[in-house]
Amino acid sequence: MAHYDTAVIGGGLLGCATAWHLARAGTRVLLVEKDQLNRHASGQNAGSLHFQLEYRMVEHGDAAARLAARALPLHLDAMRAWSTVEAELGEPCGVARHGGLMLAETPAQVAALDRKAALESRYGLPVDVVSGRDLRVLAPYLSTDVLAAGFAPGEGKANPRLVTPAYARAATRLGAEIRTGHRVTSLDRHAGRWRLGADGAVDTADTVVLAAGVWTTEVAAMADVRLPAFPVGLTMSATARTGPLLPHLIQHVGRRLSMKQTEDGNVLIGGGWPAKLVTRAGRVDLDVNPELRYESLAGNAAAARVVPAVCDLPVIRTWTGMTTLTPDQLPLLGAVPRRPGMYVATGGSAFTLGPTYARLLAEILLTGRAGLPVDDCSPERFGALNFA
Ligand SMILES: Cc1cc2nc3c(=O)[nH]c(=O)nc-3n(C[C@H](O)[C@H](O)[C@H](O)COP(=O)(O)OP(=O)(O)OC[C@H]3O[C@@H](n4cnc5c(N)ncnc54)[C@H](O)[C@@H]3O)c2cc1C
Repeated sequence: MAHYDTAVIGGGLLGCATAWHLARAGTRVLLVEKDQLNRHASGQNAGSLHFQLEYRMVEHGDAAARLAARALPLHLDAMRAWSTVEAELGEPCGVARHGGLMLAETPAQVAALDRKAALESRYGLPVDVVSGRDLRVLAPYLSTDVLAAGFAPGEGKANPRLVTPAYARAATRLGAEIRTGHRVTSLDRHAGRWRLGADGAVDTADTVVLAAGVWTTEVAAMADVRLPAFPVGLTMSATARTGPLLPHLIQHVGRRLSMKQTEDGNVLIGGGWPAKLVTRAGRVDLDVNPELRYESLAGNAAAARVVPAVCDLPVIRTWTGMTTLTPDQLPLLGAVPRRPGMYVATGGSAFTLGPTYARLLAEILLTGRAGLPVDDCSPERFGALNFA
């Protein structure tokens, strides 16, 4: 049995980045991952760095959009954070930010774009609504069906295969201990310390970070805590490689779409097309990848028609993965009520926001407060679910 200042459960982006921040602050950190690092959402995602409000945040009306907008200070922070990630970690992470366009194809969608941009500007996020000749000059590859687009200069992409391993290596260099292939199966508080059991080994820590992605609810339950984080299945498609075609990140204000071209030339298409969660004995089995839905494949392909040149490219690969959403779409970020020394980070677009979530969580853990207002994201808002 060994004792640590902090045990981090989960070796995705949030776990590895939090471990790096904590190790950098000179604390003794253990990270435990049940599979390989970056095996799940953090390595399967689309790599979009999107700072504008996403379609899923505006599709349910203005009140829902206003609620989602409360996390915009985190988006702004992440926009700055991605500028220094590669230099801080000392490795390339495929960060390229040539701006992002959120498209509108109908007058109603143009109006939605205007409302969204007004909301974003209230929080200081610069999004210009571009149309007509300006749009054709900025993005000549777009279909003429596109009437307008919200342009955010800081948006772009990073390579999900590189980012988390880079954080893990940087954390290890600073002394963090990383154990893969060990599943935490028990978590309890004993004699003022957290005790976690994984594959026969028991370790203790003063504080524990739940960075377990879609397994967060399951891991929290080991400590008799209820955290409402729900798994969502998503679908991605990749086309064959082609020459430089798409410098921008593309999204749509009226339907599901995210599209970008990788450094190798493949076009990645996603944006929230669902995949079917697999159930066993009536319960979602989180250890099985979600099943492909034909409608999502067709939806992925149809959504791409806003860039006609993409429609000529063969799709060479599709995959599914799971991400976490909370009931109000804001993340769960901070101290867990009634469980001294327990912290959690999950929910939302945690690739884009991962460097920010991790830094803020480390600040909360080390100092009791974050450098940004994060009360809206605190697990405290679901405190009523926990009686004990
Ligand atoms: C298809 C897809 C596309 C996406 N596209 C984007 C995008 O373009 N931009 C964006 O911002 N976000 C995107 N996301 C969301 C983003 O990928 C996730 O929000 C983010 O990666 C979550 O990181 P994480 O570290 O919380 O979770 P994960 O990467 O899932 O890591 C959690 C880790 O915890 C481990 N774990 C769980 N339980 C235990 C246990 N008991 N013991 C030990 N280890 C445990 C798991 O094995 C896992 O490795 C996408 C997600 C998917 C699935």
